[in-house]
Amino acid sequence: MTNLRTLEVPVVGMDCTECTMHVQHAIKELPGVKSVTVLLAAEKATVQFDPAQVDLAMISKAVAGAGYKVPDTASDQAPNSRTLQDFTKPILTIFGVVFGVILFVVVFGEWLGWFEKITAWVPWPVGFALVLIFGYPVFKNVLQATLRRQVISHTLMTVGVIAALVVGEWATAVVVVFFMRVGDYAEKFTTDHARKAVRDLTSMSPQTARLERNGSEVDVPINEVQPGDIVVVRPGEKIPVDGLVLDGQATVNQAAITGESMPVEVGQGAKVFAATIAQMGSLRVQTTLVGPDTTFGKIVRMVEEAEANRAEVQRIGDKVSGYYLPVVAVIAVITYLISRDPLSTAAVLLVACSCSFALATPIAMLASIGAAAKHGLLIKGGRYIELLAKADTVLIDKTGTLTTGKPRLTDVVCLNGLSEERLLTLAASAERYSEHPLAEAVRQAARDKELRLSEPKEFVAEPGRGVHARVGETLVEVGSWRIQGDHSIPLEAVELEKQGKTLLFVRVNQELAGILAASDTLRPETPAALAELKRLGVRRIELLTGDNERTAAAVSSQLGIDYRANLLPEDKIRIVKEYQAQNHIVVMVGDGVNDAPALAQANVGIAMGAGGTDVAIEAAHIALMREDWTLLPRAFQIAQRTMRVVKMNLGFTMIYNIIGLTLAAFGFLPPILAAAAQSLPDLGILGNSSRLLRQK
Ligand code: ADP
Ligand code: MG
Repeated sequence: MTNLRTLEVPVVGMDCTECTMHVQHAIKELPGVKSVTVLLAAEKATVQFDPAQVDLAMISKAVAGAGYKVPDTASDQAPNSRTLQDFTKPILTIFGVVFGVILFVVVFGEWLGWFEKITAWVPWPVGFALVLIFGYPVFKNVLQATLRRQVISHTLMTVGVIAALVVGEWATAVVVVFFMRVGDYAEKFTTDHARKAVRDLTSMSPQTARLERNGSEVDVPINEVQPGDIVVVRPGEKIPVDGLVLDGQATVNQAAITGESMPVEVGQGAKVFAATIAQMGSLRVQTTLVGPDTTFGKIVRMVEEAEANRAEVQRIGDKVSGYYLPVVAVIAVITYLISRDPLSTAAVLLVACSCSFALATPIAMLASIGAAAKHGLLIKGGRYIELLAKADTVLIDKTGTLTTGKPRLTDVVCLNGLSEERLLTLAASAERYSEHPLAEAVRQAARDKELRLSEPKEFVAEPGRGVHARVGETLVEVGSWRIQGDHSIPLEAVELEKQGKTLLFVRVNQELAGILAASDTLRPETPAALAELKRLGVRRIELLTGDNERTAAAVSSQLGIDYRANLLPEDKIRIVKEYQAQNHIVVMVGDGVNDAPALAQANVGIAMGAGGTDVAIEAAHIALMREDWTLLPRAFQIAQRTMRVVKMNLGFTMIYNIIGLTLAAFGFLPPILAAAAQSLPDLGILGNSSRLLRQK
């Protein structure tokens, strides 16, 4: 086994999906490269390679060979070359645009009959030279691709241009080149637009922090901040790190993480997150995480990388564009053989633009994922948008997901002569390090009674069962009826269960010593949200819980959904698999911490209220960053809307190309119009997809 290394390489100059393929192929061909993911929106390539065979310089060279660039920080900062470039580039661009537009107006105007024979005055070699100069950027790309034995969308059109020049129609060639360049700009514009969603998010990352050092305050760039540093945040400022509040009081707008702009109160001991904003009051914060490690850093990263989790339709789109060019070439040959008309043949080559096939899906996905992230909905890829739009089965965990996750202890039943205080002290001490919501309920009850807890030893938590630990010399177990072994359930328990309460059995030195009952309220917005899911086409909604039968029945009857009780975490996975085996597309909604395996098994795993909990963000395919059930139907809506846009984009491109090819092949489309027609689908797709950026 060799040691593989993973490196993120920034790549500039990629304007379309086709470009990412070129970069991908170029890097992939290097010996020792294991895998490559190229991201258009984030403008980077993630390369996994064997450092013994490849290094960064070789990767940069491969990227340069494909016609793109790995920015080299040293030379980019060289002041001289930079100012010269900055100076000449806009002038060249303006000159190019003016030149192009004049040329186009003259040639096209003549074709439309606005003015008489100007082009006839121009000698053929001059016209030829004009085409070459004007089309230089396009021809250069095509030539480079050809040398790499690659066919790109402009290859066919370039063949069209050559055809036009050969038959002496240099004016037509000018128009073709004009539209190729307009097409390039349209594509660049579209890509920039799609990048906007990711850029908006990245731009929210804090850049500097005000550190407290030796009693005074200094501003430092964010990458110089270390965990443990003390950061001072003034009113109206962005909190630069994830950390704990040492002192101070403020209302914090956490919209960057949760999408919720109602500020929350924070004070001493509270957790605060990078990129959230302290609105009133100031804070001293002890740094725990900085930069990419913060919750916000992770969100940005996931949105950037979402592009890699491609939807199935996109793969189809990519395949179609792979076949499309050869098919067009064949149609062109047939057209020529039958009609012997070079103009129709040129028109066939010109009307074809495969880029819009490749563009139809990713642009819409990027727009949606970016817009959703701003509203507290983290979607990890087009794949999950596609699956969510098709999902028909929703399975929901109970504790912490359907309910508020803040259960209260309502009853303490002592069975063995222990005092209530003693029972609670033992149970709360044993639960000291459990992350389960029920454990927190037990600890809260102990705090309310101001009981002194002891440090547990040999603490073990068994998901879906409970915990056991040694408290002093006493062996304490707290958990569901399962920890009871074969022993029967006492009558008191049955009574409490009927009230819909969750029971915790407490065993002390292997004897049942008492029962704790907790009640948990449903989140108020839940019933409406579930009704909305049904309206959106979900056929089956089922409650999956590790809790007992009677409690599950009480909860699910309030919501009018089915339930399965007494489940262990592995049972939940089995149920997900069962539905999948019956060809259902399964969405599992859980709290992410103890449901991680079932979330991962589901077609789409959705973690509820993941803001700030890393496990949940990591385990799920979609994370709802705040505890708000209305986000769930919203996710379905976004997915369905996105897929509608994607299908419209694909359908539009397909019909457009079929009509265009047919007209061109039968000679109804002059080459000039054919060239004009090919840049339209890109713009249509852009317009259609940008509706998704404005997702409410
Ligand atoms: P759900 O599926 O409803 O989210 P879990 O699978 O997390 O529930 O837990 C199932 C049951 O296991 C709980 O109802 C409780 O009785 C018991 N349990 C799990 N973890 C703990 C714990 N830390 N302390 C006490 N009881 C626990
Ligand atoms: Mg749970």
